[in-house]
Amino acid sequence: MLGYRHAYHAGNHADVLKHVVLVQLLDYMASRGKPFWYIDTHCGAGAYRLDDGPAARHGEYREGIGRLWDCADLPPALARYVELVRQLNPDDDLRRYPGSAWLAASIVVPESRLWLYELHPADFATLETRFAGDRDRVRVYQEDGFAALRGLLPPAPRRALVLMDPSYEVADDYARVTEALGDSLRRFATGTYALWYPMLRRREADRLPRQLAALDARAWLHARLTVRRRPMDDGGLYGSGMYVINPPYTLPGILDAALPALARRLAQDDSPGFTLDFEIP
Ligand code: SAM
Repeated sequence: MLGYRHAYHAGNHADVLKHVVLVQLLDYMASRGKPFWYIDTHCGAGAYRLDDGPAARHGEYREGIGRLWDCADLPPALARYVELVRQLNPDDDLRRYPGSAWLAASIVVPESRLWLYELHPADFATLETRFAGDRDRVRVYQEDGFAALRGLLPPAPRRALVLMDPSYEVADDYARVTEALGDSLRRFATGTYALWYPMLRRREADRLPRQLAALDARAWLHARLTVRRRPMDDGGLYGSGMYVINPPYTLPGILDAALPALARRLAQDDSPGFTLDFEIP
């Protein structure tokens, strides 16, 4: 069942949180100057049009990246993220939005490799075309990203960043993310793993943070951003979380400065909020 298309949601508040954190993880890995593997188990199309198609019709990006696009005085992590989105929009007009793969391809150091997995035939085709000229560096597969991850760990360069960003359109995804993280830690305990998850009125979503806390991770960080009050009914996405295993020691300080500004700027009612928890021995 593949009804989900990320184009409808590109650049919304959940993408903003995810991509702000992802950019910081990529920048940190790249700053070490050594090649690494970037593995994107649920990749989407790589980049999205905002001026046409589903994103333009639904306009979720207007309450996400749209709220940051023209802002001065952003905290450094938000300014860095907006700077990357601007690279894709050199005319100063917000028309396109980068997906996780585009951000990774812009940041990784030479000789790094990108492993990208996407099941949806149309998004896979777009992704494949996007990276057709970059075959030495970028591998694109129309395969189940959870299953493929097992075959990639431990990575040849012994350095890897894994983004797990399922659509959660099937309830199974909630169980599969914790299984995949547990299995990955057994295969490659020192990798950096970033998981995005939705905050919704749904039992599986409410349980997920407890299941993540039970994973055998030595170092972790958990950032949550809520843009409105938790709805009484099943009224959709009111926030999202990023759970990072083996985060850089610099990440808590960076997010401590960024999250209050994100909550303030992306608020959809008078009850936005954030939490930031971590253990980095
Ligand atoms: N990571 C992207 C980004 O940040 O730009 C967004 C990805 S979107 C939230 C999730 C994607 O996973 C969808 O495009 C969906 O088609 C794809 N997908 C769903 N199940 C999958 C699976 N088992 N393996 C690989 N891709 C899958």
